[in-house]
Amino acid sequence: MDKCEVHMTELVEGPIPVRYGLIRWSEAFQRASRALFPNANSTVPGGCIMGPSSPKEARGTFCARCREAEREWIRRPSPLAGLDVPGKEKLVATLDSAREQLALQIGRAAEALFPMALEMAWIQLKASSMRISPVRGWTSCSTMRSRIVCGGCRRPSPR
Ligand SMILES: [Zn+2]
Repeated sequence: MDKCEVHMTELVEGPIPVRYGLIRWSEAFQRASRALFPNANSTVPGGCIMGPSSPKEARGTFCARCREAEREWIRRPSPLAGLDVPGKEKLVATLDSAREQLALQIGRAAEALFPMALEMAWIQLKASSMRISPVRGWTSCSTMRSRIVCGGCRRPSPR
């Protein structure tokens, strides 16, 4: 019997529900799955087409502790899901708070940098949406089609 490389427990054989349809796991889930519960095998992808004779279950091996870890991670995503770590609750809370602090700091840094970036983007947007009309020399804005301004004097066009 194979062993789970994370939990060092033997894989057991049993029924695994077959899931039909396009299954898309989030990137965070996929990362957690590879690291924390690689042998959960909670479902087997059955493809997109489900007919009356499509099997509902398949046989396969899985790690019971991986399944527990997966359930724990789905309840509350944490890099310690399914692991026995002393003081885990406190550690997870600390990690959560550290993540919040980091997000806050990134937010503050972005806020400090953003006005300038926004201004640059605005200038570029204006430059790209303004075009000089070759006939009359008016600058017209393609995003606000109604307004046509003279490229020289910046006065609105006479209409
Ligand atoms: Zn496992």
